Amino acid sequence: MSKNRNLSASQRIPPLVAHLVSDRAKKALDVVEKFVEEDCIPTEGVWQTQLGTTTEQRFNTHPHVMEELKDKAKKLGLWNMFLPKNHFKEGAGFSNIEYGLMAEVLARSGLASEATNCAAPDTGNMEVLAKYGTDAQKKQWLAPLLNGEIRSAFLMTEPDIASSDATNINLRIVKEGNSWVLNGSKWWSSGAGDPRCKVYIVMGKNDPDNKNPYLQQSVILVPASTPGITIHRMLSVFGYDDAPHGHGHITFENVRVPLDHIVLGPGKGFEIIQGRLGPGRIHHAMRSIGAAEKALDYFIARINDPKKTTFGKPLHEHEIMVERLAKSRIEIDAARLIVLNAALAIDNGNAATAKKEIAQAKVLVPEALANTLDRAIQAWGAAGVCQDTPLANMWAHARTMRIVDGPDEVHLLQLGKNENKRAQVVIEKLEKQSKAKAAALSAKGLEKKDILYIGKSTGPGSKL
Ligand SMILES: Cc1cc2nc3c(=O)[nH]c(=O)nc-3n(C[C@H](O)[C@H](O)[C@H](O)COP(=O)(O)OP(=O)(O)OC[C@H]3O[C@@H](n4cnc5c(N)ncnc54)[C@H](O)[C@@H]3O)c2cc1C
Repeated sequence: MSKNRNLSASQRIPPLVAHLVSDRAKKALDVVEKFVEEDCIPTEGVWQTQLGTTTEQRFNTHPHVMEELKDKAKKLGLWNMFLPKNHFKEGAGFSNIEYGLMAEVLARSGLASEATNCAAPDTGNMEVLAKYGTDAQKKQWLAPLLNGEIRSAFLMTEPDIASSDATNINLRIVKEGNSWVLNGSKWWSSGAGDPRCKVYIVMGKNDPDNKNPYLQQSVILVPASTPGITIHRMLSVFGYDDAPHGHGHITFENVRVPLDHIVLGPGKGFEIIQGRLGPGRIHHAMRSIGAAEKALDYFIARINDPKKTTFGKPLHEHEIMVERLAKSRIEIDAARLIVLNAALAIDNGNAATAKKEIAQAKVLVPEALANTLDRAIQAWGAAGVCQDTPLANMWAHARTMRIVDGPDEVHLLQLGKNENKRAQVVIEKLEKQSKAKAAALSAKGLEKKDILYIGKSTGPGSKL
Protein backbone atom coordinates (compact mmCIF):
# COMPACT_ATOMS: atom_id res chain seq x y z
CA MET A 1 0.00 0.00 0.00
CA SER A 2 1.21 3.50 -0.81
CA LYS A 3 2.59 5.50 2.14
CA ASN A 4 1.39 8.73 0.51
CA ARG A 5 -1.94 9.54 2.14
CA ASN A 6 -2.48 12.64 0.02
CA LEU A 7 -3.01 11.21 -3.44
CA SER A 8 -4.44 13.37 -6.22
CA ALA A 9 -7.79 12.51 -7.79
CA SER A 10 -6.13 10.87 -10.79
CA GLN A 11 -3.94 8.78 -8.49
CA ARG A 12 -7.02 7.60 -6.60
CA ILE A 13 -8.78 6.14 -9.67
CA PRO A 14 -9.78 2.55 -8.81
CA PRO A 15 -7.35 0.18 -10.59
CA LEU A 16 -10.31 -1.74 -12.01
CA VAL A 17 -11.21 1.18 -14.30
CA ALA A 18 -7.91 3.05 -14.60
CA HIS A 19 -7.28 1.68 -18.12
CA LEU A 20 -10.61 3.15 -19.24
CA VAL A 21 -9.60 6.69 -18.31
CA SER A 22 -7.68 8.69 -20.93
CA ASP A 23 -4.61 10.77 -20.06
CA ARG A 24 -6.61 13.87 -20.98
CA ALA A 25 -9.34 12.91 -18.50
CA LYS A 26 -6.77 12.16 -15.79
CA LYS A 27 -5.29 15.62 -16.21
CA ALA A 28 -8.76 17.20 -16.21
CA LEU A 29 -9.65 15.27 -13.05
CA ASP A 30 -6.76 16.88 -11.20
CA VAL A 31 -7.73 20.30 -12.56
CA VAL A 32 -11.30 19.68 -11.32
CA GLU A 33 -9.94 18.82 -7.88
CA LYS A 34 -7.78 21.93 -7.73
CA PHE A 35 -10.71 24.09 -8.88
CA VAL A 36 -13.03 22.59 -6.24
CA GLU A 37 -10.50 22.90 -3.40
CA GLU A 38 -9.01 26.29 -4.28
CA ASP A 39 -11.93 28.14 -5.88
CA CYS A 40 -15.31 26.58 -5.04
CA ILE A 41 -14.93 25.63 -1.37
CA PRO A 42 -13.38 28.99 -0.34
CA THR A 43 -16.21 30.81 -2.16
CA GLU A 44 -19.04 29.02 -0.32
CA GLY A 45 -19.29 31.68 2.44
CA VAL A 46 -19.37 34.54 -0.09
CA TRP A 47 -22.07 32.74 -2.07
CA GLN A 48 -24.21 32.19 1.05
CA THR A 49 -23.85 35.83 2.09
CA GLN A 50 -24.73 37.13 -1.39
CA LEU A 51 -27.82 34.87 -1.41
CA GLY A 52 -29.44 36.94 1.34
CA THR A 53 -31.59 35.95 4.26
CA THR A 54 -35.23 36.61 3.36
CA THR A 55 -37.37 34.42 1.08
CA GLU A 56 -37.80 37.47 -1.16
CA GLN A 57 -34.02 37.87 -1.56
CA ARG A 58 -33.17 34.20 -1.79
CA PHE A 59 -35.48 33.46 -4.71
CA ASN A 60 -35.00 36.68 -6.63
CA THR A 61 -31.27 36.93 -7.00
CA HIS A 62 -28.52 34.53 -7.72
CA PRO A 63 -25.16 35.15 -6.08
CA HIS A 64 -22.97 36.97 -8.56
CA VAL A 65 -19.87 35.16 -7.37
CA MET A 66 -21.20 32.09 -9.18
CA GLU A 67 -20.61 33.87 -12.50
CA GLU A 68 -16.96 34.44 -11.50
CA LEU A 69 -16.59 30.72 -10.79
CA LYS A 70 -18.23 29.87 -14.12
CA ASP A 71 -15.82 32.16 -16.00
CA LYS A 72 -12.86 30.50 -14.32
CA ALA A 73 -14.21 26.98 -14.98
CA LYS A 74 -14.70 27.80 -18.67
CA LYS A 75 -11.12 29.10 -18.90
CA LEU A 76 -9.88 25.87 -17.33
CA GLY A 77 -11.85 23.83 -19.87
CA LEU A 78 -14.12 22.45 -17.13
CA TRP A 79 -17.47 22.86 -18.83
CA ASN A 80 -20.30 20.45 -19.75
CA MET A 81 -18.24 17.38 -18.84
CA PHE A 82 -21.47 15.43 -18.19
CA LEU A 83 -22.42 14.98 -21.86
CA PRO A 84 -20.78 11.66 -22.79
CA LYS A 85 -18.59 11.72 -25.90
CA ASN A 86 -19.99 8.63 -27.57
CA HIS A 87 -23.57 9.90 -27.39
CA PHE A 88 -23.33 13.69 -27.85
CA LYS A 89 -21.09 15.97 -29.83
CA GLU A 90 -21.91 19.02 -27.67
CA GLY A 91 -20.03 18.01 -24.49
CA ALA A 92 -16.42 18.24 -23.31
CA GLY A 93 -15.49 14.88 -24.84
CA PHE A 94 -15.36 12.61 -21.79
CA SER A 95 -16.93 9.19 -21.23
CA ASN A 96 -19.44 8.47 -18.45
CA ILE A 97 -16.72 6.70 -16.47
CA GLU A 98 -14.50 9.77 -16.75
CA TYR A 99 -17.32 12.13 -15.81
CA GLY A 100 -18.30 9.82 -12.95
CA LEU A 101 -14.88 10.33 -11.39
CA MET A 102 -15.14 14.09 -11.92
CA ALA A 103 -18.70 14.31 -10.53
CA GLU A 104 -17.46 12.67 -7.35
CA VAL A 105 -14.90 15.44 -6.88
CA LEU A 106 -17.38 18.17 -7.84
CA ALA A 107 -19.73 17.00 -5.08
CA ARG A 108 -17.30 18.14 -2.40
CA SER A 109 -18.61 21.69 -2.88
CA GLY A 110 -22.24 22.71 -3.30
CA LEU A 111 -21.06 25.25 -5.89
CA ALA A 112 -18.87 23.16 -8.16
CA SER A 113 -21.47 21.35 -10.28
CA GLU A 114 -23.19 24.56 -11.27
CA ALA A 115 -19.87 26.34 -11.74
CA THR A 116 -18.93 23.76 -14.38
CA ASN A 117 -22.45 23.64 -15.92
CA CYS A 118 -22.87 20.09 -14.67
CA ALA A 119 -25.75 20.70 -12.24
CA ALA A 120 -29.12 18.97 -12.06
CA PRO A 121 -31.73 19.41 -13.36
CA ASP A 122 -30.10 21.20 -16.29
CA THR A 123 -27.88 18.22 -17.07
CA GLY A 124 -30.83 15.86 -17.64
CA ASN A 125 -32.76 18.59 -19.43
CA MET A 126 -29.86 19.32 -21.77
CA GLU A 127 -29.64 15.61 -22.55
CA VAL A 128 -33.35 15.61 -23.46
CA LEU A 129 -32.91 18.57 -25.79
CA ALA A 130 -29.69 17.23 -27.31
CA LYS A 131 -31.22 13.80 -27.86
CA TYR A 132 -34.78 14.59 -28.89
CA GLY A 133 -34.96 18.33 -29.68
CA THR A 134 -35.56 19.81 -33.14
CA ASP A 135 -32.98 22.22 -34.53
CA ALA A 136 -35.21 25.15 -33.55
CA GLN A 137 -35.68 23.82 -29.99
CA LYS A 138 -31.93 23.29 -29.68
CA LYS A 139 -31.23 26.81 -30.87
CA GLN A 140 -33.75 28.38 -28.52
CA TRP A 141 -33.06 26.37 -25.35
CA LEU A 142 -30.11 23.99 -25.65
CA ALA A 143 -27.60 26.61 -26.82
CA PRO A 144 -28.16 29.02 -23.87
CA LEU A 145 -28.27 26.09 -21.43
CA LEU A 146 -24.98 24.73 -22.74
CA ASN A 147 -23.50 28.23 -22.35
CA GLY A 148 -24.78 28.50 -18.77
CA GLU A 149 -26.83 31.61 -19.64
CA ILE A 150 -30.18 30.24 -18.44
CA ARG A 151 -31.45 27.42 -16.23
CA SER A 152 -34.33 24.98 -16.58
CA ALA A 153 -36.74 22.75 -14.63
CA PHE A 154 -38.27 19.33 -15.25
CA LEU A 155 -41.95 19.18 -14.27
CA MET A 156 -43.33 15.72 -13.85
CA THR A 157 -44.42 15.15 -10.22
CA GLU A 158 -47.94 16.25 -9.25
CA PRO A 159 -49.47 16.88 -5.82
CA ASP A 160 -52.77 15.02 -6.29
CA ILE A 161 -51.56 11.67 -7.61
CA ALA A 162 -48.86 9.08 -6.79
CA SER A 163 -46.21 10.23 -9.24
CA SER A 164 -43.86 7.27 -8.89
CA ASP A 165 -46.30 5.56 -11.26
CA ALA A 166 -45.88 7.91 -14.20
CA THR A 167 -49.03 6.63 -15.91
CA ASN A 168 -50.88 8.66 -13.24
CA ILE A 169 -49.43 11.98 -14.45
CA ASN A 170 -52.49 14.03 -15.09
CA LEU A 171 -51.70 17.60 -16.20
CA ARG A 172 -53.94 17.97 -19.23
CA ILE A 173 -52.54 18.93 -22.63
CA VAL A 174 -55.16 19.76 -25.25
CA LYS A 175 -54.59 20.77 -28.86
CA GLU A 176 -56.50 23.93 -29.77
CA GLY A 177 -55.83 25.48 -33.18
CA ASN A 178 -52.12 26.20 -33.41
CA SER A 179 -51.49 25.74 -29.70
CA TRP A 180 -51.15 23.19 -26.95
CA VAL A 181 -53.14 24.30 -23.91
CA LEU A 182 -51.95 23.09 -20.50
CA ASN A 183 -54.02 22.86 -17.31
CA GLY A 184 -52.97 21.22 -14.04
CA SER A 185 -50.64 21.28 -11.03
CA LYS A 186 -47.01 20.31 -10.53
CA TRP A 187 -44.84 20.25 -7.46
CA TRP A 188 -41.25 19.48 -6.59
CA SER A 189 -40.28 21.39 -9.70
CA SER A 190 -36.61 21.71 -8.79
CA GLY A 191 -34.89 24.83 -10.08
CA ALA A 192 -38.12 26.75 -10.66
CA GLY A 193 -37.23 29.22 -7.90
CA ASP A 194 -34.15 30.51 -9.69
CA PRO A 195 -34.78 33.76 -11.58
CA ARG A 196 -32.56 32.38 -14.36
CA CYS A 197 -34.92 29.42 -14.91
CA LYS A 198 -36.39 30.23 -18.32
CA VAL A 199 -37.84 26.95 -19.55
CA TYR A 200 -39.92 24.14 -18.09
CA ILE A 201 -39.88 20.67 -19.59
CA VAL A 202 -43.43 19.56 -18.74
CA MET A 203 -44.85 16.05 -18.86
CA GLY A 204 -48.63 15.78 -19.21
CA LYS A 205 -51.45 13.77 -20.69
CA ASN A 206 -52.70 14.60 -24.18
CA ASP A 207 -54.38 11.28 -25.03
CA PRO A 208 -56.08 10.00 -21.84
CA ASP A 209 -58.25 7.49 -23.74
CA ASN A 210 -55.39 5.71 -25.49
CA LYS A 211 -55.66 2.00 -24.60
CA ASN A 212 -51.90 1.88 -24.10
CA PRO A 213 -51.23 3.85 -20.87
CA TYR A 214 -47.63 4.39 -21.98
CA LEU A 215 -48.73 6.35 -25.04
CA GLN A 216 -51.04 8.82 -23.29
CA GLN A 217 -48.29 11.26 -22.28
CA SER A 218 -46.33 13.97 -24.04
CA VAL A 219 -43.54 16.36 -23.13
CA ILE A 220 -43.90 20.06 -23.92
CA LEU A 221 -41.38 22.90 -23.66
CA VAL A 222 -42.97 25.81 -21.83
CA PRO A 223 -41.20 29.17 -21.52
CA ALA A 224 -41.36 30.15 -17.83
CA SER A 225 -42.77 33.56 -18.78
CA THR A 226 -45.86 32.12 -20.55
CA PRO A 227 -49.11 33.64 -19.16
CA GLY A 228 -51.20 31.36 -16.91
CA ILE A 229 -48.34 29.99 -14.78
CA THR A 230 -48.34 30.57 -11.00
CA ILE A 231 -45.50 29.51 -8.72
CA HIS A 232 -47.41 29.36 -5.45
CA ARG A 233 -44.62 28.50 -3.03
CA MET A 234 -41.31 26.78 -2.66
CA LEU A 235 -41.17 23.44 -0.82
CA SER A 236 -38.59 22.84 1.89
CA VAL A 237 -36.44 19.73 2.24
CA PHE A 238 -36.41 18.95 5.98
CA GLY A 239 -36.57 22.73 6.47
CA TYR A 240 -33.87 23.67 3.92
CA ASP A 241 -35.08 25.99 1.15
CA ASP A 242 -32.34 25.09 -1.39
CA ALA A 243 -32.41 28.69 -2.65
CA PRO A 244 -32.11 30.06 -5.23
CA HIS A 245 -32.80 26.79 -7.04
CA GLY A 246 -35.73 25.64 -4.84
CA HIS A 247 -38.54 23.19 -5.44
CA GLY A 248 -41.66 24.87 -6.77
CA HIS A 249 -45.38 24.18 -6.39
CA ILE A 250 -46.81 25.44 -9.67
CA THR A 251 -50.17 25.59 -11.41
CA PHE A 252 -50.91 25.89 -15.11
CA GLU A 253 -54.17 27.60 -16.09
CA ASN A 254 -54.86 27.73 -19.82
CA VAL A 255 -51.15 27.98 -20.58
CA ARG A 256 -50.79 28.21 -24.35
CA VAL A 257 -47.67 27.32 -26.34
CA PRO A 258 -47.21 26.82 -30.10
CA LEU A 259 -47.54 23.26 -31.48
CA ASP A 260 -43.83 23.07 -32.31
CA HIS A 261 -43.04 23.19 -28.54
CA ILE A 262 -43.77 19.47 -28.23
CA VAL A 263 -40.70 17.24 -27.87
CA LEU A 264 -40.42 14.31 -30.28
CA GLY A 265 -44.19 14.25 -30.89
CA PRO A 266 -47.48 13.34 -29.20
CA GLY A 267 -47.45 10.17 -27.08
CA LYS A 268 -43.66 10.15 -26.69
CA GLY A 269 -43.65 11.24 -23.03
CA PHE A 270 -42.65 7.87 -21.62
CA GLU A 271 -39.87 7.35 -24.10
CA ILE A 272 -38.45 10.77 -23.21
CA ILE A 273 -38.65 10.40 -19.43
CA GLN A 274 -37.00 6.99 -19.60
CA GLY A 275 -34.21 8.55 -21.67
CA ARG A 276 -33.88 11.41 -19.16
CA LEU A 277 -34.13 9.68 -15.81
CA GLY A 278 -31.44 7.07 -16.50
CA PRO A 279 -28.53 9.51 -16.83
CA GLY A 280 -30.04 11.74 -14.10
CA ARG A 281 -30.00 8.84 -11.66
CA ILE A 282 -26.42 7.94 -12.37
CA HIS A 283 -25.30 11.57 -12.01
CA HIS A 284 -26.94 11.70 -8.56
CA ALA A 285 -25.18 8.47 -7.64
CA MET A 286 -21.80 9.78 -8.81
CA ARG A 287 -22.19 12.93 -6.73
CA SER A 288 -23.33 10.89 -3.74
CA ILE A 289 -19.98 9.08 -3.68
CA GLY A 290 -18.25 12.46 -3.38
CA ALA A 291 -20.66 13.50 -0.63
CA ALA A 292 -19.91 10.26 1.23
CA GLU A 293 -16.15 10.95 1.00
CA LYS A 294 -16.75 14.43 2.37
CA ALA A 295 -18.81 13.02 5.26
CA LEU A 296 -16.01 10.55 5.97
CA ASP A 297 -13.47 13.41 6.09
CA TYR A 298 -15.66 15.07 8.74
CA PHE A 299 -15.88 11.79 10.63
CA ILE A 300 -12.09 11.41 10.65
CA ALA A 301 -11.56 15.04 11.66
CA ARG A 302 -13.88 14.67 14.63
CA ILE A 303 -12.57 11.37 15.96
CA ASN A 304 -9.05 12.80 15.85
CA ASP A 305 -9.88 16.11 17.54
CA PRO A 306 -7.45 16.24 20.50
CA LYS A 307 -9.60 18.81 22.31
CA LYS A 308 -12.58 16.46 22.49
CA THR A 309 -11.71 13.37 24.49
CA THR A 310 -14.19 11.09 26.22
CA PHE A 311 -13.34 8.81 29.13
CA GLY A 312 -9.72 9.84 28.92
CA LYS A 313 -9.03 9.30 25.23
CA PRO A 314 -9.79 10.71 21.80
CA LEU A 315 -12.64 9.06 19.90
CA HIS A 316 -10.33 7.27 17.48
CA GLU A 317 -8.99 5.24 20.39
CA HIS A 318 -12.48 3.90 21.04
CA GLU A 319 -12.61 0.77 18.91
CA ILE A 320 -16.20 1.22 17.84
CA MET A 321 -15.25 4.43 16.03
CA VAL A 322 -12.42 2.80 14.08
CA GLU A 323 -14.75 -0.02 13.17
CA ARG A 324 -17.32 2.49 11.88
CA LEU A 325 -14.57 4.17 9.87
CA ALA A 326 -13.64 0.84 8.31
CA LYS A 327 -17.26 0.03 7.49
CA SER A 328 -17.71 3.36 5.76
CA ARG A 329 -14.54 2.88 3.74
CA ILE A 330 -15.74 -0.53 2.57
CA GLU A 331 -19.23 0.74 1.73
CA ILE A 332 -18.02 3.81 -0.15
CA ASP A 333 -15.44 1.88 -2.18
CA ALA A 334 -18.03 -0.78 -3.05
CA ALA A 335 -20.59 1.87 -3.98
CA ARG A 336 -18.06 3.63 -6.21
CA LEU A 337 -17.48 0.42 -8.17
CA ILE A 338 -21.24 -0.06 -8.61
CA VAL A 339 -21.50 3.51 -9.95
CA LEU A 340 -18.54 3.12 -12.30
CA ASN A 341 -19.94 -0.20 -13.48
CA ALA A 342 -23.21 1.55 -14.39
CA ALA A 343 -21.27 4.34 -16.11
CA LEU A 344 -19.36 1.74 -18.13
CA ALA A 345 -22.61 -0.02 -19.05
CA ILE A 346 -23.93 3.31 -20.41
CA ASP A 347 -20.66 3.93 -22.27
CA ASN A 348 -20.87 0.49 -23.85
CA GLY A 349 -24.58 0.82 -24.73
CA ASN A 350 -26.95 3.50 -23.55
CA ALA A 351 -29.11 4.37 -20.54
CA ALA A 352 -31.79 1.90 -21.67
CA THR A 353 -29.41 -1.06 -22.02
CA ALA A 354 -27.80 -0.11 -18.69
CA LYS A 355 -31.12 0.01 -16.83
CA LYS A 356 -30.20 -2.76 -14.42
CA GLU A 357 -26.81 -1.32 -13.51
CA ILE A 358 -28.28 2.18 -13.08
CA ALA A 359 -31.04 0.87 -10.78
CA GLN A 360 -28.45 -1.00 -8.69
CA ALA A 361 -26.47 2.21 -8.22
CA LYS A 362 -29.63 4.25 -7.59
CA VAL A 363 -30.53 1.99 -4.65
CA LEU A 364 -27.14 1.10 -3.19
CA VAL A 365 -25.30 4.42 -3.24
CA PRO A 366 -27.76 6.50 -1.16
CA GLU A 367 -27.62 3.73 1.45
CA ALA A 368 -23.83 3.94 1.63
CA LEU A 369 -23.99 7.74 1.79
CA ALA A 370 -26.68 7.74 4.50
CA ASN A 371 -24.73 5.23 6.61
CA THR A 372 -21.56 7.32 6.49
CA LEU A 373 -23.44 10.54 7.19
CA ASP A 374 -25.17 8.91 10.13
CA ARG A 375 -21.83 7.78 11.57
CA ALA A 376 -20.28 11.21 11.03
CA ILE A 377 -23.24 12.99 12.65
CA GLN A 378 -23.06 10.60 15.60
CA ALA A 379 -19.33 11.26 16.02
CA TRP A 380 -19.89 15.01 16.06
CA GLY A 381 -22.59 14.71 18.73
CA ALA A 382 -24.97 17.68 18.89
CA ALA A 383 -22.67 19.70 16.63
CA GLY A 384 -23.47 17.21 13.88
CA VAL A 385 -27.14 18.11 13.71
CA CYS A 386 -26.74 21.90 13.61
CA GLN A 387 -25.44 24.43 11.10
CA ASP A 388 -21.82 24.24 12.33
CA THR A 389 -20.97 21.40 9.95
CA PRO A 390 -22.47 20.64 6.51
CA LEU A 391 -23.52 17.19 7.75
CA ALA A 392 -27.13 17.95 8.68
CA ASN A 393 -27.84 19.60 5.34
CA MET A 394 -26.08 16.75 3.52
CA TRP A 395 -28.14 14.18 5.45
CA ALA A 396 -31.38 15.94 4.48
CA HIS A 397 -30.46 15.68 0.82
CA ALA A 398 -29.12 12.17 1.08
CA ARG A 399 -32.46 11.06 2.53
CA THR A 400 -34.30 12.42 -0.50
CA MET A 401 -32.19 10.25 -2.80
CA ARG A 402 -34.33 7.27 -1.82
CA ILE A 403 -37.38 9.11 -3.18
CA VAL A 404 -36.27 11.32 -6.08
CA ASP A 405 -36.23 9.95 -9.62
CA GLY A 406 -38.53 7.15 -8.46
CA PRO A 407 -38.54 5.66 -4.94
CA ASP A 408 -36.34 2.69 -4.02
CA GLU A 409 -39.31 0.32 -4.01
CA VAL A 410 -39.98 0.86 -7.71
CA HIS A 411 -36.37 0.13 -8.66
CA LEU A 412 -36.19 -2.85 -6.34
CA LEU A 413 -39.43 -4.22 -7.77
CA GLN A 414 -38.06 -3.94 -11.30
CA LEU A 415 -34.68 -5.41 -10.34
CA GLY A 416 -36.33 -8.24 -8.39
CA LYS A 417 -38.79 -9.07 -11.18
CA ASN A 418 -35.98 -9.18 -13.75
CA GLU A 419 -33.84 -11.34 -11.52
CA ASN A 420 -36.77 -13.67 -10.99
CA LYS A 421 -37.02 -14.22 -14.75
CA ARG A 422 -34.13 -16.65 -14.28
CA ALA A 423 -36.41 -18.90 -12.18
CA GLN A 424 -37.08 -21.53 -14.86
CA VAL A 425 -33.42 -21.68 -15.89
CA VAL A 426 -32.32 -21.95 -12.25
CA ILE A 427 -34.83 -24.73 -11.47
CA GLU A 428 -33.83 -26.71 -14.56
CA LYS A 429 -30.13 -26.27 -13.77
CA LEU A 430 -30.55 -27.49 -10.19
CA GLU A 431 -32.66 -30.47 -11.31
CA LYS A 432 -30.01 -31.33 -13.91
CA GLN A 433 -27.29 -31.14 -11.27
CA SER A 434 -29.30 -33.38 -8.96
CA LYS A 435 -29.85 -35.96 -11.70
CA ALA A 436 -26.18 -35.82 -12.71
CA LYS A 437 -25.12 -36.49 -9.11
CA ALA A 438 -27.51 -39.49 -8.89
CA ALA A 439 -26.16 -40.81 -12.22
CA ALA A 440 -22.55 -40.43 -11.01
CA LEU A 441 -23.35 -42.39 -7.84
CA SER A 442 -25.14 -45.12 -9.73
CA ALA A 443 -22.26 -45.40 -12.24
CA LYS A 444 -20.04 -46.31 -9.28
CA GLY A 445 -22.69 -48.68 -7.91
CA LEU A 446 -23.32 -46.38 -4.94
CA GLU A 447 -26.42 -44.99 -3.33
CA LYS A 448 -27.06 -41.50 -2.02
CA LYS A 449 -26.60 -41.43 1.73
CA ASP A 450 -27.58 -38.79 4.26
CA ILE A 451 -24.81 -39.02 6.85
CA LEU A 452 -27.06 -37.39 9.41
CA TYR A 453 -29.72 -40.09 9.04
CA ILE A 454 -30.23 -41.75 12.43
CA GLY A 455 -33.43 -43.76 12.05
CA LYS A 456 -33.80 -43.97 15.84
CA SER A 457 -37.30 -45.10 16.80
CA THR A 458 -39.00 -46.17 20.01
CA GLY A 459 -40.82 -48.94 18.13
CA PRO A 460 -44.54 -49.28 17.51
CA GLY A 461 -46.88 -47.75 20.08
CA SER A 462 -49.14 -49.98 22.26
CA LYS A 463 -52.52 -51.07 20.88
CA LEU A 464 -55.66 -49.82 22.58
C1 LIG B 1 -35.66 17.11 -3.23
C2 LIG B 1 -36.59 16.62 -4.30
C3 LIG B 1 -36.43 17.07 -5.60
C4 LIG B 1 -37.32 16.66 -6.60
N1 LIG B 1 -37.20 17.18 -7.87
C5 LIG B 1 -38.11 16.88 -8.80
C6 LIG B 1 -38.10 17.51 -10.09
O1 LIG B 1 -37.22 18.34 -10.38
N2 LIG B 1 -39.09 17.23 -10.97
C7 LIG B 1 -40.07 16.33 -10.67
O2 LIG B 1 -40.94 16.10 -11.51
N3 LIG B 1 -40.10 15.70 -9.46
C8 LIG B 1 -39.17 15.96 -8.53
N4 LIG B 1 -39.22 15.35 -7.29
C9 LIG B 1 -40.30 14.42 -6.99
C10 LIG B 1 -39.89 12.97 -6.98
O3 LIG B 1 -39.39 12.54 -8.22
C11 LIG B 1 -41.11 12.18 -6.52
O4 LIG B 1 -41.34 12.55 -5.16
C12 LIG B 1 -40.95 10.68 -6.64
O5 LIG B 1 -40.98 10.27 -7.99
C13 LIG B 1 -42.06 9.92 -5.89
O6 LIG B 1 -43.32 10.38 -6.26
P1 LIG B 1 -44.36 10.83 -5.11
O7 LIG B 1 -43.73 11.82 -4.22
O8 LIG B 1 -45.62 11.24 -5.80
O9 LIG B 1 -44.60 9.55 -4.23
P2 LIG B 1 -45.70 8.42 -4.44
O10 LIG B 1 -45.74 8.00 -5.87
O11 LIG B 1 -46.95 8.89 -3.81
O12 LIG B 1 -45.08 7.24 -3.59
C14 LIG B 1 -45.08 7.27 -2.15
C15 LIG B 1 -44.39 6.06 -1.64
O13 LIG B 1 -45.08 4.90 -2.04
C16 LIG B 1 -44.19 3.80 -2.06
N5 LIG B 1 -44.27 3.10 -3.35
C17 LIG B 1 -44.41 3.64 -4.58
N6 LIG B 1 -44.42 2.67 -5.53
C18 LIG B 1 -44.28 1.49 -4.88
C19 LIG B 1 -44.22 0.13 -5.27
N7 LIG B 1 -44.28 -0.20 -6.57
N8 LIG B 1 -44.07 -0.81 -4.30
C20 LIG B 1 -44.01 -0.47 -3.00
N9 LIG B 1 -44.06 0.79 -2.57
C21 LIG B 1 -44.20 1.76 -3.49
C22 LIG B 1 -42.78 4.37 -1.86
O14 LIG B 1 -42.40 4.19 -0.51
C23 LIG B 1 -42.97 5.84 -2.16
O15 LIG B 1 -42.02 6.66 -1.52
C24 LIG B 1 -38.35 15.73 -6.28
C25 LIG B 1 -38.47 15.25 -4.97
C26 LIG B 1 -37.62 15.68 -3.98
C27 LIG B 1 -37.80 15.18 -2.58
